[in-house]
Amino acid sequence: MHKARKRFGQNFLTDSLIIRKIVDSIAPAPGQLLIEIGPGQAALTRPLADSGAELHLVEIDRDLAARLEREFQGNPNVTVHVGDVLKTDFGEITGGRPFRLVGNLPYNISTPLLFHVLQWSDLLIDMHFMLQQEVVERMAAMPGNKAWGRLSIMCQYRCEIAPLFTVRAESFTPVPKVQSGIVRLVPHREPPVRIDSLDAFQRLVIQAFSMRRKTLRNSLRGLLSAAVIESAGIDPGLRPETLSLQQFADLSLLME
Ligand code: SAM
Repeated sequence: MHKARKRFGQNFLTDSLIIRKIVDSIAPAPGQLLIEIGPGQAALTRPLADSGAELHLVEIDRDLAARLEREFQGNPNVTVHVGDVLKTDFGEITGGRPFRLVGNLPYNISTPLLFHVLQWSDLLIDMHFMLQQEVVERMAAMPGNKAWGRLSIMCQYRCEIAPLFTVRAESFTPVPKVQSGIVRLVPHREPPVRIDSLDAFQRLVIQAFSMRRKTLRNSLRGLLSAAVIESAGIDPGLRPETLSLQQFADLSLLME
């Protein structure tokens, strides 16, 4: 028996109905290149491997990786990579071929992972992640909703986000403290709005939401004057959570 390691965020899926539902949503097909992050004890890996997809596993825990090597050694479609996914070169694994990404992720690496893997967004067909449900809600939030913020804007600029379903804490062993959810992210082939500088756009969004309760006039002080905000047709007396992705993009074009 493997003892779950907290430092690697190990909560293993043990609910066969949920495992089926997740794999059905992914709908892997023979010949597809699929990378699973954090396969753990192979709850998702087995049905993914049965699909006939070319499956690459990235697991940080050496003991689990060794078990996975043993379990799948006779299967030419499965390759185990031992290491930290945040340092993984997806170009090397894929050899530049289009790929799909799947993972029941440790919650603390979900956001850095997303931005790491988006370096290969040209090759990335889609991603299916199990995340903390609250994170799924923030990713998929709409303007005006209190979950709308930096994560929603940066994710929606890069991807189309589809929350699929929630997963009860009891579906895992050990049982986590939070509810989880499955989300599908599909990188946009063309950006949904025009921005000239990702850096300026990011700075604007970070500053706007660092003081959620303040009006744009106050929170954007030093970046954009009230007059410039108004010139984009936006009332500087608004709060950042009411602005759309398009409006943030428009404002970023006015930054020095
Ligand atoms: N996929 C399995 C399941 O659904 O039961 C395990 C999920 S568990 C929440 C997260 C898995 O990710 C663990 O196997 C853990 O060792 C692995 N992991 C944690 N941090 C990682 C990292 N930085 N890179 C790769 N794998 C990681």
